[in-house]
Amino acid sequence: MEFLFLYLYLVVLVLFSTPLIHSSSTIQSSSAISRFQQYLQINTAQPSPRYQEAADFLISQAKSLSLQSQTIDFVTGKPLVLLKWPGTKPHLPSILLYSHTDVVPSEHDKWTHHPFSAHLDHHGRIYARGSQDMKCVGMQYLEAVRGLKAKGFEPLRSVYLAFAPDEEIGGHDGAEKFAQSEIFDQLNVAIVLDEGLASPDEHYRPFYAERSPWWLVIKSTGAPGHGAKLYDNSAMENLLKSTESIRRFRASQFDLIKAGLKAEGDVVSVNMVFLKAGTPSPTGFVMNLQPSEAEAGFDIRVPPTADQESLERRIAEEWAPISRNMSFSFKQKVSVHDESGKPVLTNTDSSNPWWSLLENAVQKAGGKLGKPEVFPASTDARYFRRRGLPAIGFSPMANTPILLHDHNEFLHKDEYLKGIEIYESIIKTYASFDDQGKHGGSRDEL
Ligand SMILES: [Zn+2]
Repeated sequence: MEFLFLYLYLVVLVLFSTPLIHSSSTIQSSSAISRFQQYLQINTAQPSPRYQEAADFLISQAKSLSLQSQTIDFVTGKPLVLLKWPGTKPHLPSILLYSHTDVVPSEHDKWTHHPFSAHLDHHGRIYARGSQDMKCVGMQYLEAVRGLKAKGFEPLRSVYLAFAPDEEIGGHDGAEKFAQSEIFDQLNVAIVLDEGLASPDEHYRPFYAERSPWWLVIKSTGAPGHGAKLYDNSAMENLLKSTESIRRFRASQFDLIKAGLKAEGDVVSVNMVFLKAGTPSPTGFVMNLQPSEAEAGFDIRVPPTADQESLERRIAEEWAPISRNMSFSFKQKVSVHDESGKPVLTNTDSSNPWWSLLENAVQKAGGKLGKPEVFPASTDARYFRRRGLPAIGFSPMANTPILLHDHNEFLHKDEYLKGIEIYESIIKTYASFDDQGKHGGSRDEL
């Protein structure tokens, strides 16, 4: 009988206590979601982001968490918000949790919900520009700090959170200036976390490098002539030979992806972005004249593992050879090597403890990490990697379609909340790592 009473007592205890625990965590989750929505509702779209509004919001968050904060204007009107959670062993190199506050523009009428409404639909999806790229990550860092503080965790290393402007237009007034500044040197950063991409399957996608943009313009010249005459070496003919050669190269790279032999970030991508030729007339173009000049532009993306010299040779000898009256120039050409001549990448093996720690931390929080990849486009992480620092691109969004820069960008609230747990685990693991050295960048020591 006594056992029966004990049993009944336990049943009653469970029945009455579970809803209580459940409701307090539900309240925490819903306030985390509403803080995320508030950040998303600030219109920070290029070309005129409301940077100050975003900065004010972030500073108010920092105050509620008792974090030290400062706003740095490397360029007037483009504030970078820097927050600090001081470590108990401040001589240890620090951790930088990096994000950007700006977002790309959106065509409002093509969205189901207004891109700055941060609408939460009945499936649990939060629709907003920046929900994936990358206001989610910025707020998840803050929520993870909130969670760790509530649990009484104290970091050994200082943890910095940087919210930078400008990434969507190149990062030149934000991350680039920050990474080169004295302020940054004083932070004594050991590891940088920046953005990754959503993953349609259950694995999070970590990025250890990115492709370098080479924006190539090729130009051909040739004798002008009557539109009815066949002759060699016309500007148009010369340019066509080049575009044919470039098209074959593009197909060979694309075939590697289609065959599943290489990932998108591991091949050299080439896409024609403009063609400029012809002699204008009031009704369009002169039709019986072969022009003396023709030009084409290409957006080329080169992975750090590619042979830069052989690609340069290919451009000079096959795509724009002097022998065919051609010349070329670059609108932009970012080297795949850093100042010391090493490929700009972060090691993802045992030589880099930050990588192993990340793997462990994600696993401990119940997340699955995919194979490290080369980011197919550009992020601000390059400015830190170029300094020889390890930087990992990571946005914890599994089971999520890749919608950055797309219409109806959304993130499911459960994925968002799961991501906070993942960052709690990462920050805790990183900030407890008691090791003097700096590791894992393209250079072994700074
Ligand atoms: Zn981004």
